[in-house]
Amino acid sequence: MPTCIKCGNSTHFSCGHITRSLPWNNGTDSGLVALFNESSLVNMENHGASYEDLNNAWSNPHLYFNLCSICKSDMITWP
Ligand SMILES: [Zn+2]
Repeated sequence: MPTCIKCGNSTHFSCGHITRSLPWNNGTDSGLVALFNESSLVNMENHGASYEDLNNAWSNPHLYFNLCSICKSDMITWP
């Protein structure tokens, strides 16, 4: 599963190309954030993604989750 090169986070990532439907001043402004465990994508939190985006992100998370939710870096490696 993805790992942030900068901070080592391997569980919390967000999608940089889906913007949040409503501004939120307490965290990421991504419209789609994901939780991973050691082996797979386990949960997604939708704040503005379309149904189609949700399906695609679930099937192809490496195409969507390109930002670390912890340090906001885009230096993410995938296995
Ligand atoms: Zn990070």
